[in-house]
Amino acid sequence: LPPACAHRPLMDATTFKENFSHRRARKTYLCYEVEVWEGNTWAPVEGLQGFLHNQGLSRCSSPLRHAELCFLDRVRFWNLEEGRQYRLTCYISWSPCPDCAQKLVEFLGQNSHVSLCIFAARIYTIVSGYKDGLCQLRDAGAQLTIMTLNDLQHCWENLVDNQGEPFEPCPTLVEHIETKSQELKDILRVRFLPPAPPSSSLPGPVSSSGSPA
Ligand SMILES: [Zn+2]
Repeated sequence: LPPACAHRPLMDATTFKENFSHRRARKTYLCYEVEVWEGNTWAPVEGLQGFLHNQGLSRCSSPLRHAELCFLDRVRFWNLEEGRQYRLTCYISWSPCPDCAQKLVEFLGQNSHVSLCIFAARIYTIVSGYKDGLCQLRDAGAQLTIMTLNDLQHCWENLVDNQGEPFEPCPTLVEHIETKSQELKDILRVRFLPPAPPSSSLPGPVSSSGSPA
């Protein structure tokens, strides 16, 4: 085992490459780090770095549980002191689904001493309402962004068993990051405004005579 494994679990390099890329993967992986506000700066909390994945997709009989909820289980177990300010950073291979977004929003509402930064490798668009979920997270004060090359490199160097290899992203990944970043920005730009008054100035539908010219 590399020395880093002595005090923190590291993700296997292949798992990282397969899940934190433009490729579609069935599992959701979540790497996390915890910091505490100390002397005007965020300081890492030793021992509170690691990773997990969603439960219930393998043959073992654990019930279905999304990665974010597994993460919240861990956070609750840590009992972060209420008198201090904490920042949770999640690097997650899929952005939260609406249900998990709701649970994260509830958690943030109950824990004003905890803030949340989510860096997603891909946007989870499979469940309807995913945009609302992401906007609710934004409204609850969570920071939401697509993982940049810097973020990926940070994970590679700090949370992955990289075997001393440098981080080498494939060229298509850069394009993927740009596309997904724009997509997420467009989602988060939407604010929930009151419905617009009915417009009478627009022309009505043009009736067709139905006969060919
Ligand atoms: Zn979920």
